Amino acid sequence: MKKTLIIATHNEGKKRELINTLSSLAYKIYSLKDFPELPEVEETGSTFKENAVLKAETISRLTGELTLADDSGLEVFYLGGKPGVHSARFAGEDATDEQNNTLLLKLMENVPHSQRKARFVCVMAVAAPGIKTITVEGSCEGFLATMPRGTRGFGYDPLFIYGDGNKTFAEMDMETKSRISHRGRALQKIREVLMQF
Ligand code: IMP
Repeated sequence: MKKTLIIATHNEGKKRELINTLSSLAYKIYSLKDFPELPEVEETGSTFKENAVLKAETISRLTGELTLADDSGLEVFYLGGKPGVHSARFAGEDATDEQNNTLLLKLMENVPHSQRKARFVCVMAVAAPGIKTITVEGSCEGFLATMPRGTRGFGYDPLFIYGDGNKTFAEMDMETKSRISHRGRALQKIREVLMQF
């Protein structure tokens, strides 16, 4: 019988990426959509790791199940690491991806390519009753575009040009992005961890 794994996210984009990589493992995967009675876990930590651990441990404690949580975001070097842990709510508490992208472009107006370096970071935590929580980290570097390009993905994908290339994440198919992205890299590591359970 398949074991249960809860992915502690409401974000459909993330959920699709996670299921894509973990579906070959012997887990029946649920997300928070399947547990509407659970409270929202506030991301009160000041680092990606603190937030990932907080979410995984809270949901695992409330459900008694193995839980995977991630916290991720974009760090722009020119902005001293912003938006960082505030990536989802950069332009305000209920900001849309478009509003966040517009604000970021405004802050980066007239900043030359050489200073548009950015990186995505993802920390994943796996928690279960009676075990010590495990965390892994993945990251990927690139540059910020001067205007949004591409229709795929979510969040800052239309602004993030991966590596030294010229394609934004929003111009890549999910498989290509998953192979090279911060989340993809963290996922490969957490996949190894989950295979041990
Ligand atoms: P979280 O849901 O608290 O981890 O916040 C993540 C936020 O960071 C998202 O809402 C996006 O704005 C941004 N983000 C994280 N990963 C990605 C990605 O792969 N592509 C684009 N934006 C991302």
